[in-house]
Amino acid sequence: MQRILLHACCGPCSLEPVRILRSEGIEPVIFYANSNIYPAEEYARRLATLRTWAAEEEVAVAEGAYDAEAWEAVVGRIGNAAEAKFGVICNEEGDGRGETDSEARAAWEGDGAAADGPSDARIAREARCRACYRLRFTEAARYAAEHGFDALGATLSVSPYQYTGIIREELERACERAGIEAHFEDYRPFYDEATRRSREGGMYRQNYCGCRFSEAEAAAEREQRAAERRAVREAAKAARAAERAAEEAERARKRAERQAYADRQARKRAALKALRGQRRGDHGE
Ligand code: SF4
Repeated sequence: MQRILLHACCGPCSLEPVRILRSEGIEPVIFYANSNIYPAEEYARRLATLRTWAAEEEVAVAEGAYDAEAWEAVVGRIGNAAEAKFGVICNEEGDGRGETDSEARAAWEGDGAAADGPSDARIAREARCRACYRLRFTEAARYAAEHGFDALGATLSVSPYQYTGIIREELERACERAGIEAHFEDYRPFYDEATRRSREGGMYRQNYCGCRFSEAEAAAEREQRAAERRAVREAAKAARAAERAAEEAERARKRAERQAYADRQARKRAALKALRGQRRGDHGE
């Protein structure tokens, strides 16, 4: 049977990959290597959540080194350059985590030299995340090779908020260098089920990816989505008000029409009465 080391970013994202691997007859060992997570208390909280669940499910968990300094030197450097140039980088509307092509990504070197514009900001964010995946997968692949695993998998692809294509590329790259197989699966179709199960199980569910940049980005994106929902509500309210005004105008038009008809009838009756009065006067002469 194939021995698979499964890189895990957190407990909730491990639920479905482990279930699926087990259904395929594979008993994975989880490897928690996430020097990206900021602050250290958050790292510990996610690990504790993972360990509690894994103990209940009898899944083995190994922990990598938590080396925030190494992460800062490699990934934080790219993130700092991007932040200095673009500020907090939100995903563009409707993009989700759509990825730019490799050529465009390669153009960004994280040194602030890219041209202005939202696409460059997105490329810069992707470059940072690529470096982050690379650091973590390189460590995981090395551990896998040293401990006799045949392949490395990754739970990061559960999240629709991650760059799935880049995860795959970086997983394959790390595995090739370590001389093991990459066991990539796109777990995004199981995201809803993972969300449901983790909520049902009362697991801690973080609301940002992990690094200090993502904390600000997630907050800005939540605010962006809230503003979008507010705008939709306001537009619907304005549309309802316009509809009500049109209905009221129609009712007023009908009232005026009825009134005009009644006035005409009254004038006719008055004219008729006057005519009859005149005739009676003529006969009486
Ligand atoms: S957003 Fe997530 S994947 Fe990207 S750099 Fe931050 S922690 Fe790493």
